[in-house]
Amino acid sequence: MSLKKKVAVLAGDGIGPEVMDVTLEVLKKALGNQYTEFEFQSALVGGAAIDAVGEPLPKETLSLCESSDAILFGSVGGPKWESLPPEKQPERGALLPLRKYFELFANLRPVKLYPELAHASPLKEDRLKNGVDILIIRELTGDVYFGQPKGREGKDKNEKAYDTMVYHRYEIERIAQVAFDSAKMRKNKVTSIDKANVLTSMVFWREVVTQFANDYNKQGNNVQLEHMYVDNAAMQLILNPSRFDVLLCSNMFGDILSDEASVLGGSLGMLASASLSTRKNQHGYKFGLYEPAGGSAPDIAGKGIANPIAQILSGALMLRYSFGLNEVATKIEKAIEKAIQNGARTRDIATEKDRVLNTKEIAEEIIKNL
Ligand code: NAD
Repeated sequence: MSLKKKVAVLAGDGIGPEVMDVTLEVLKKALGNQYTEFEFQSALVGGAAIDAVGEPLPKETLSLCESSDAILFGSVGGPKWESLPPEKQPERGALLPLRKYFELFANLRPVKLYPELAHASPLKEDRLKNGVDILIIRELTGDVYFGQPKGREGKDKNEKAYDTMVYHRYEIERIAQVAFDSAKMRKNKVTSIDKANVLTSMVFWREVVTQFANDYNKQGNNVQLEHMYVDNAAMQLILNPSRFDVLLCSNMFGDILSDEASVLGGSLGMLASASLSTRKNQHGYKFGLYEPAGGSAPDIAGKGIANPIAQILSGALMLRYSFGLNEVATKIEKAIEKAIQNGARTRDIATEKDRVLNTKEIAEEIIKNL
């Protein structure tokens, strides 16, 4: 008997449960006969878990994640829990420990602008005529955020503070691997971001990525590599976003560029993300946590009007990266594209002329295309 493909479903708070419900319907339909190979099991997380058992990441939830192959995460938090001490709050108390526990070293954020939604993007439409379809891959566990030494010392005019930007070869190689493997499933192009004109650690980054690319392509691959300084990349993302395919970034540069790029897609409700682990799951793929880039949207929670596309796209990323089901993932992405082309809009991406659909209705439009 083959092993089940196990998914821990942590819907969380606010719009989390609403968008998760319809996402599971979409996944069921997209998987067709393969659905029986899956086991989706839900558990409490975030504010919902605090209310039920007094902590944001209960032991039972962590052990469900531990025995699963991937985590499909909704969102956590809301005004109700904001007066708790920071470490007990839903986001700090649940997401951060999960990231640490599962050594999530690679953050993936696809940014896609559908031509029909160009009106929702802050860029002028002529900048967007060639479309935007970028995958930002950000290293998550190294860099100046964690490098030692860091500290403060001295007094008066000599008082100073410092952080250390440091990367090990293995850290650069493993994030480059994710970027090149991803590019192979897309348009075969990686743009590696650095500041090699001034920073020693970034000269090293460029060297290691170049060596990695040479070795990678010697194994019968054909992924093009270009290098770009981070300051130029910040400009090009606005001037000519369609020139990019996969952007490979260190932790700090990825932090900044991914937020810059995130607005190109028009709405937080369209933005998915994946965080991949150093661990493999029992099917030989990377364990990962998949979640929308936005939060629990308390302002619209409970109204059934949230855009579920970010959550659905997160589910597609999960099928691609943690279960090797690239074709099913692509099928879901195409079904969303078609629904948008056919005029399906939730409130966040609608113009005055559009008929506005609610969460369930837009999911039905997507399901129809599967
Ligand atoms: P938010 O992302 O929840 O909302 C920002 C704005 O975007 C709101 O107007 C919201 O309605 C809109 N929005 C977000 N997702 C949407 C969707 N799917 N469809 C339509 N509109 C959508 O950010 P916030 O208001 O700063 O934070 C609210 C709560 O979420 C806070 O408690 C915060 O800590 C938490 N949060 C959680 C996560 C997470 O779980 N990973 C991430 C960010 C914020």
